[in-house]
Amino acid sequence: MKMKRNLFRLLVGGVFCVLVMSLYHVLEMMQGAETPGQDFYRLQQQIDKLERLLSDNNRLVVTLRDSLLHRQPARGAGAAVNVSAGSAHRPAGALPGCRLAQEMKGGADGVQLLDVYDLLPFNNPDGGAWKQGFQISYRGNEWDEQPLEVLLVPHSHNDPGWLKTFENYYQDQTKHILNNMLIKLTEDSRRKMIWAEISYFSKWWNDIDEQKREMVKRLVGAGQLELVTGGWVMADEANSHYFALLDQLIEGHQWIQRHLGVRPSSGWAVDPFGHSPSMAYLLKGAGLNNMVIQRVHYAVKKQFAQQKTLEFLWRQSWDSSPRSDITCHMMPFYSYDVPHTCGPNPAVCCQFDFHRLPGRRTMCPWKKSPQPITEQNVQERALLLLDQYRQKSRLFRSHVLLVPLGDDFRFVEASEWDAQFSNYQKLFDYFDQHPELHVKARFGTLSDYFEALHRRLNAAGTTLPTLRGDFFTYADRDDHYWSGYFTSRPFYKRLDRTLEATLRATEILFSLTLAEMRRFRGDGRLVSDFPAREHFQRLTAGRRSLALFQHHDAVTGTARDPVVVDYGTRLFHSILNLRQVLQSSAHWLLLLDKSQYHHDQSKPFMQLDDVISAHDALPRKTLLALNDEPRSLIIFNPTEQLRSSVISVVVDSPDADVIDAATGRPMAAQISAVWAEPNQASTEQFQLDFVAELPPLSLVVYHVTKASFGSAHRARYSFYCRGNPPVVQSEHFQVSRPEGPEADAPLSLSNQHIRIWSSPETGLLQKLRLQSGPVRDVRVQFLWYGTRRNQDKSGAYLFLPGEEGAQPYSSSEPPLVRVSRGPVFSDITSCFRHFTHTVRLYHLDGHAGRSLEISNMVDIRSEFNRELVMRLVSDVANGNRFYSDLNGFQMQQRRTLQKLPLQANFYPMTSAAFLQDAASRVSLLSAQSQAVASLRPGELEVVLDRRLQQDDNRGLGQGVTDNKLTASLYHLLLEDRRGGAEDVGGASVEHLSLLAHLTSLSLNHLPITMVAPSNSQTPALRPFLPLRSSLPCDVHLLNLRTLEDSQEADSPSQEAALLLHRKGFDCSSAPQPPLACTWSAQEEVDLDLLFSPLRFRSLRRSGLTLLREDDQPESARQPAAPRGARLRPMEVSAFRVEVA
Ligand SMILES: [Zn+2]
Repeated sequence: MKMKRNLFRLLVGGVFCVLVMSLYHVLEMMQGAETPGQDFYRLQQQIDKLERLLSDNNRLVVTLRDSLLHRQPARGAGAAVNVSAGSAHRPAGALPGCRLAQEMKGGADGVQLLDVYDLLPFNNPDGGAWKQGFQISYRGNEWDEQPLEVLLVPHSHNDPGWLKTFENYYQDQTKHILNNMLIKLTEDSRRKMIWAEISYFSKWWNDIDEQKREMVKRLVGAGQLELVTGGWVMADEANSHYFALLDQLIEGHQWIQRHLGVRPSSGWAVDPFGHSPSMAYLLKGAGLNNMVIQRVHYAVKKQFAQQKTLEFLWRQSWDSSPRSDITCHMMPFYSYDVPHTCGPNPAVCCQFDFHRLPGRRTMCPWKKSPQPITEQNVQERALLLLDQYRQKSRLFRSHVLLVPLGDDFRFVEASEWDAQFSNYQKLFDYFDQHPELHVKARFGTLSDYFEALHRRLNAAGTTLPTLRGDFFTYADRDDHYWSGYFTSRPFYKRLDRTLEATLRATEILFSLTLAEMRRFRGDGRLVSDFPAREHFQRLTAGRRSLALFQHHDAVTGTARDPVVVDYGTRLFHSILNLRQVLQSSAHWLLLLDKSQYHHDQSKPFMQLDDVISAHDALPRKTLLALNDEPRSLIIFNPTEQLRSSVISVVVDSPDADVIDAATGRPMAAQISAVWAEPNQASTEQFQLDFVAELPPLSLVVYHVTKASFGSAHRARYSFYCRGNPPVVQSEHFQVSRPEGPEADAPLSLSNQHIRIWSSPETGLLQKLRLQSGPVRDVRVQFLWYGTRRNQDKSGAYLFLPGEEGAQPYSSSEPPLVRVSRGPVFSDITSCFRHFTHTVRLYHLDGHAGRSLEISNMVDIRSEFNRELVMRLVSDVANGNRFYSDLNGFQMQQRRTLQKLPLQANFYPMTSAAFLQDAASRVSLLSAQSQAVASLRPGELEVVLDRRLQQDDNRGLGQGVTDNKLTASLYHLLLEDRRGGAEDVGGASVEHLSLLAHLTSLSLNHLPITMVAPSNSQTPALRPFLPLRSSLPCDVHLLNLRTLEDSQEADSPSQEAALLLHRKGFDCSSAPQPPLACTWSAQEEVDLDLLFSPLRFRSLRRSGLTLLREDDQPESARQPAAPRGARLRPMEVSAFRVEVA
């Protein structure tokens, strides 16, 4: 039976080849016959399509051949090759992504943070900063054999925006710090300093002359100045998406390589409010071997201090090898300032912050001031400090001690440098003169510390423990959990992702354009009229705006109002600038006759179909005037998958036709009302939605024309409003207002995959059923949280809800509920006073039809100390476990613990969360970062917006009251599970399903619609189809990012960074019908085949930040040999490529 089917497939493949060959022949003849124009390009497009099909067919043949060859050892490693979706029903474990997940579900070695959380009582004895710790004792002879080696690491924490804007901090503080650094480090070669934020460093570099730059290089070369982490900013690790986390790291590392020729080796993250293993993964991938973290829950710090596990190898939860291990040092105490870094007693340590000497501006709050070190007091002072060092040292396994020396914006004035360095040098000299104290102390960089640490550990044969997990949710004291910032300023958290998607789309299209141009010209040069250099500068500026916003006071929503405006303006301008690059790249790619290309900045040939008018405004669709002449719509699909998408534009006619410009094929379309008010349809504007078939990374052209009266499918509407039948104005649409029993029946919508039922009173979802499965409860609710009446209240950082918990949302007036039904989509919209909530089903074949789209438009500006949440209440028996993502990179198990206060059970959600039991999984995929919790079994809730009138005493000095009309977007996915999970609610490592990955990809990378002038002025366009077929559905094209020319600054080089992320996926769900995509069972992937017909003229694997010294030389290869590259599940791989 199986053989028969295989033979049949081979036969089909053969017929295919013949068909394509003959079409080529026809094409050749036509080329000779000089018949350019539509027919020619229609034919060419058909051939492109056939080529894609042929390529898929080839893969099938390869699969079949391989499966025959490997029939015997089929279960061995790397046996079967491309597995088509048809075999999705094989037992879990047979596929590579699954195999990995299965392995990891066994026993995880080392410390698992989830277990630590189960173990700890979280009883907070005695409160207070280090009182949460314990008494540290020592005998005094511990260091007789091996002296204590102290490295004092001077640092200055410079926030790129917080209380002041980036620019103002730079002018007032940062540039003075760096100027003095040059002078003061040069004065004495024993002095050292570390610096983290490349955004500031590069700005300062632009301000200094060549002589000073040489001094900087000398200091770096001599090891006196170390650039740590080397990111553009010290990034937030909760709300940031891994695309942006990596991008800001690339931007920083590329800058460092270009200007200083070095690479960072140690990470320094002392202020982000909790820490993510995704960051550890990226640092390791970028070539760093060590890192420091600081803001960790005080109870975890105490536990780790007791266990001497403050230094550990941080391993990815999903990694069964030590490949991802990075040495991590966790600071033991409350803060990174001097009082909390020399030892456990802040009252003593503060006396060794010589910036607080009497007469200077800063004081010690513990009433004991520092004294200048003199011959008279040096002994007493040195012994006092040594006691702190010795106590702190007892918390670690080696006799090397890291002691940071610094604080926020320290070392501004020259006198501060002198005070710190000269007083400490006296203490160090005293230690040197007294060998009986068994201590050696010196200034050091972070790498000095880690070198000494590894030397000592190796000599002693000591290994560090392995740790898996993450450090959310952070608490610094009492029940002050920092879960508020997971949602604070949600408008900008969403704008961040809009810029991110725009940047990625523009990067890819720009890189492809340059490659096409070089191929077109044939001499490796670009088209002269194309402003490649200006566009590259726009891209660079866009990268840097996104990078700056990843700062831990930016995307977190924890900056002062004017600073938020500054960030928002940067994001907004970057989006506008990137759109220019996108538009003119698309213009050139689409032109049939490239000689017609002309760049005019003031009059772009095509424009995006929406307008963003200000940094705090939501995009608005532009109105397209239609007539008998076709208007060209150009759609860019920024994903690497063939997709069916619904494209939405606003037109001035209730009758319109859409055709595929290349084939003339009419597209399924629907006309809906544009609602000026919830019950009042516009008479001038109409929403036109049509189904577009978009090949991977393609630009496709559609024509829209005004159609004859009544020819378009119009949506039909039903309105519901309890006790108050609404007056509806809509002259172009059929409207019903059900009354009597009909008005009480549940509202129901369905497509071929899903049926839903909603409340006729509120319109909110109640039940859900997959195609043929049982009816499941999934109820949507809205609720309010307030804050405490007395004591500390919620603010930008902290979530401190009132004891009553969440209260159901209720409004004095019943909501207006509007149901729309049409051939392209159907939806239910509930209009409440504070929000408009829409649940939509698309009538689409592909994966877009398998989930429910949920969108909210929230406005809580009228409220006082309130937070609005959307809660899903399902019948999933997940116990106390659920999963939320970390930075969109991986899923992390969460356990809701009763011993913790409510606010501690909230976690960051960057892009996904799910609940599961043995039979099903409910996933919520999101297009923005928010706080998420599952407070009771079956429940999942996200915080939509928060309005808080007061400061929460973490330095910001204001509440959060700059709320805006804020949009949020999700897809809700119900999946059957087979094979089930052994543990209640799931194993410690779980992944999204392939369907969820595809849904999330589509949600985060929407098609981009551009409009060209009406057709009489339009030159002939042809679609741009760079890839013959979709990438395997577990391989994500994270970016194709043009690198800067090494000779000519601010100009694009011929090289690009190709970043591929191979996703791990869950295999216990098997969607019916199967997904229309393939994946490979091997880690080895042929990149030439994957990206065919694109060619890579050169291809070198590199570190994640594309540093040249990370490049692995190209393996010697035969010209015809496949371009193999290893893509491991869960891993991001970086290649330096020249696309040809
Ligand atoms: Zn900071």
